[in-house]
Amino acid sequence: MASEDFGRIVREHLFGTWRRQRGWEPLSVIKADGVYFYDSQGRRYLDFSSQLVNVNLGYGNENVINAIKRQLESLQYISPVFAAETRARAAKALLEIMPEGLTKFFFSTSGTEANEAAIKTARLYKKPAFKIVVRYRSYHGSTFASISMTGDYRRWFVEPHTMHGVVRVPEPYCYRCPLGLKYPECGLACVNYVDYVIKNEKNVAAILVEPITGTNGVVVPPKEYLPTLKRIAEENDVLFIADEVMTGWGRVGDWWAVNLWGIKPDILTTAKGASASYVPIGITAVSKKIADYFEDEFFAHGHTFEAHPVSLSAIPAVIEEYKRLDLLNHVKAMGEYLSRRLEELKDKHRSIGDVRGVGLFWAIEFIKDSRKTPFGTYDDKYRGLATPVDRVAAELLKMGVYVYNGPSWFIVAPPLIVTREQIDEGIEKIDQVIKKLD
Ligand code: PLP
Repeated sequence: MASEDFGRIVREHLFGTWRRQRGWEPLSVIKADGVYFYDSQGRRYLDFSSQLVNVNLGYGNENVINAIKRQLESLQYISPVFAAETRARAAKALLEIMPEGLTKFFFSTSGTEANEAAIKTARLYKKPAFKIVVRYRSYHGSTFASISMTGDYRRWFVEPHTMHGVVRVPEPYCYRCPLGLKYPECGLACVNYVDYVIKNEKNVAAILVEPITGTNGVVVPPKEYLPTLKRIAEENDVLFIADEVMTGWGRVGDWWAVNLWGIKPDILTTAKGASASYVPIGITAVSKKIADYFEDEFFAHGHTFEAHPVSLSAIPAVIEEYKRLDLLNHVKAMGEYLSRRLEELKDKHRSIGDVRGVGLFWAIEFIKDSRKTPFGTYDDKYRGLATPVDRVAAELLKMGVYVYNGPSWFIVAPPLIVTREQIDEGIEKIDQVIKKLD
């Protein structure tokens, strides 16, 4: 099919998501390899965000592709009531890398579903407690429960339908402290407030957090934040759920972001990197204590595509590739280099208010003026307005570099196999294009 044809058909018959349809002009992509993808005119693009922070092994990894092919040829589907070798292999491989104590898994096909399962599991386990504490600046998925637990502006679009029992608290976003305080003099008022909320709300089943906030601008908490939050959860007998959909799978230079602070969650959810996005996958991992509870209780959850043999075949292959490529150490080395290059950019450009991140997971936050005015918000996107940062990201794409951007920030998160030269290529083009925001 000619590229003009498939571009037109896609535009007409598929929804462009999280946007108005008018103005959507999707680029027609025909192939990808390594850290690059190619359009129908043969133009090459450096993927500087791993798409939606998920193509962690880059494109065209033969070992992962072959593992998937082998599974397709031997057993493409069998209902979740049956045992299959691919299911056992995935579980065994995961046990090797999961934070200590997480021993049982529910497999779905997305991060959204992983969080839906986590919340249902927590509520079943903790009943009659049912409330879930989440943060305003968060994203946990797009369906009923997960969007209800999401705090960012996108949540408002479905406000009349939100799930009962969600309690929101401020986030540790020190660059724009929601409490108007300054770290460390604040004494971590935002996390201490969570203790107050739990004690006064009562019936709280769980706290759900992204250890490092992702789509809402890569917010890395101060070092005491997560250990204190975990202690507060324990003291109040509330489950601690880590949403590692974006932060997991080596993105931060360790298998999991919670490992950076030595946190052992009761439930961990993940997706994206679990198959390096070669096939859809979502994982909800729970502690032995929670798993044991369901020995004699009804686990009231499931999907036709749960624990799909083909999806699961990717998991051990991905883990093998990380080992073969010594990827966690590579991420640490490349992360240090990327952080230096981003700091240089910040020194050079007035419009950069903050750069923050860890490993290969970074945000560049842009500001209009010295009062830190953002270039736009999700409200603008809802009204169909492109912010200046959107426009600059579109121009950058024309120059051959793709970044996943928010209304006033870029997320810089290349595939974990990226090299120094490729980092330089991305940084140099960003350097040129953001002059327009200065
Ligand atoms: N949780 C986090 C932290 C995410 O970043 C995302 C997606 O970006 C999700 C959940 C939802 O995952 P999915 O898009 O696979 O449903």
